[in-house]
Amino acid sequence: MRITEITPYPIRDEDGQTYLIVRVDTDAGIHGLGEVGIKVWGESVIAALHHLSELVVGADPWETERLWQLMFRRAFFPADRVYTSAISAIDIALWDIKGKAAGLPVYKLLGGPVRDKVVCYPHLGGATPELLVEQCEAAVDAGWKFLRWHLAAPGESRERPERDEFEPTEAVALAVEMMSRVREAVGPTIEICLDVHTRLGPAHVVDLCRQVTPLRPFFIEDPLRSENPGSYRRLRERVSLPIAAGEQWSSKWGFREAIEEELIDYARVDLGIAGGLTEGRKIGGWAETHFIDLVPHNPLGPVSAAAGVALCMASTNVGVQEMPRAPGSYARELFPEQIGWEDGYAFCPDTPGLGVTMDLDAARAALVEPGGWPPRLQRRDGSFTNW
Ligand SMILES: [Mg+2]
Repeated sequence: MRITEITPYPIRDEDGQTYLIVRVDTDAGIHGLGEVGIKVWGESVIAALHHLSELVVGADPWETERLWQLMFRRAFFPADRVYTSAISAIDIALWDIKGKAAGLPVYKLLGGPVRDKVVCYPHLGGATPELLVEQCEAAVDAGWKFLRWHLAAPGESRERPERDEFEPTEAVALAVEMMSRVREAVGPTIEICLDVHTRLGPAHVVDLCRQVTPLRPFFIEDPLRSENPGSYRRLRERVSLPIAAGEQWSSKWGFREAIEEELIDYARVDLGIAGGLTEGRKIGGWAETHFIDLVPHNPLGPVSAAAGVALCMASTNVGVQEMPRAPGSYARELFPEQIGWEDGYAFCPDTPGLGVTMDLDAARAALVEPGGWPPRLQRRDGSFTNW
């Protein structure tokens, strides 16, 4: 079996959600699907995919490790996030192909199962505590065992994201009020995850963590920006809450310091950025030796979700899996088959590969220009702050 073609599909579903799906075809009539993590860099990632095709087309799809090394290192300069996003999608698609060729679900190729199903958290939000509590109560009613929202910008508006203001002191006060109200509404056993989304500096993070510690969140995510993992060392000394980080790190090398020095409790590996399942397994195994659990980052679509759940099914060290929406509840025309879902848990169907199909006619009709930008936040003085 040889790889014949790599085709990117930047597409939009009926709800306006975009995805950058990569299809890898072989001469055996088997194809695989992958998903790109940083879709706002779509045009550059697609250029990287075309470049990497020169290495991958004609190769044996079973040789995922050799191909990973080639794609990451062949240019002499180690792959950056644009290239690792392309590598990730190709690698995930190759595992899908291997599963289909072997007649096995991917999690079984990875050594699973070590669990029956994977507990997940949804994306929730609300500009006010009332709206957030409403969403959280609805999620609990729908069976979710975990709740997650990100640090709100007071007055944040989806309609005018370019004008949204973010002031750290106000955001911390609002975050404390929101978590108190949600904890009171849902009781002590529902898990709460707060994504700080790299919006705060260390002083405000320490203030926030100290105030919400009695509310027992499951973790605080991305409390600091990711460029200097060493900063987590000092933060670790100053807060006692579990820390989750890693969605912006683009290979095992990005995780090295945080894992080896046990600076985090949860590794937020993004399989669509960090190098696919080939790299995700290594990061997971390495984290296991430091009792760090995986919480795969997945703000994306059905293919990314399926890859994360496959890894969790085969990994003993798992905290929870990010799952913005319940699998099978969205984009069903584009992705007629998605992984399984029941009562707050995702599971892999017992079909060969990742268990996700993409309708090619629907995908061609849903093509969009890749790229765009996430919303932008700024301080009241006009200075830039992370989204
Ligand atoms: Mg996050």
